[in-house]
Amino acid sequence: MIRNKMRPLGVHTSIKDNIINSIEEAKYLQCETFQIFLHSPRVWQIPEIDEDTIEKFKQRIKENNLNPLIVHASYLINLISSKPKTINSSRYLLKKEVLMSDALGADYYVIHLKDNKEMEKEEIFDKVRDAFSKIGKLQKCKILIENTAKSKITANISDLFDTLKNINSENLGGVCIDTCHLFAAGYDISKEEGILKFTEEVKKFGDFNFIKLIHINDSKTPVGSGIDRHEHIGKGYIGIEGFKNFLKIEEISHLPLILETPKKSPQDDIKNLTVIREILKKLES
Ligand SMILES: [Zn+2]
Ligand SMILES: [Zn+2]
Repeated sequence: MIRNKMRPLGVHTSIKDNIINSIEEAKYLQCETFQIFLHSPRVWQIPEIDEDTIEKFKQRIKENNLNPLIVHASYLINLISSKPKTINSSRYLLKKEVLMSDALGADYYVIHLKDNKEMEKEEIFDKVRDAFSKIGKLQKCKILIENTAKSKITANISDLFDTLKNINSENLGGVCIDTCHLFAAGYDISKEEGILKFTEEVKKFGDFNFIKLIHINDSKTPVGSGIDRHEHIGKGYIGIEGFKNFLKIEEISHLPLILETPKKSPQDDIKNLTVIREILKKLES
């Protein structure tokens, strides 16, 4: 299906065997954009990528006109842990991943900031700002902070923008909004009122220009659950009508959309992509 490139749509693809595999998968699924991990997100080890592979990767992306390229951070990174050892390992991995993303020509590096109940917001901001500033200068890649289902710094829209403003690092490019996390954090985007609550709060506490990316996922858990469990589009609590309304929001109607829905086989991605494409087709016509 040929779609308007105004709003790139893609999925999180696999790097198993080889990072080039992620491009082949995105092409097979007829995506305009895609997201990857640089390595298994639940381990500290990160293999190097040789120069030839980096060049080939960039070339293939260009040939296939895939953009933006998005890298998702590993889940282990915790820049505000109470354990100094974890902070050190996290800073090392963060720097490594962001520099690698930049070398691969990624536009965005998306990260969830962990919470720490024993820490005041100011201390959290200082620690994250310091870690971001130690990455060094980047050519193109910008870090995006993703909203989460539960946290004092990234779940509510007011807190998310407060965090963005306070960290204020030159490597930080804005935020990523995940629909599943938004819903789990208490924004009932399955209904008009919830959509309105979201858009009003963005205008009040931040700006739509700070939102650079949308993770489009349905939710396995009810509104306000505080639990982050992604579901196939239309099969969860947000539902088709919810996505129709959410994707109608004018101010974010140009933003790239990435699916992170459950996947047992490529068929799952095809199904979810089809559902979103159908909604977009109606909205764009
Ligand atoms: Zn995420
Ligand atoms: Zn997400």
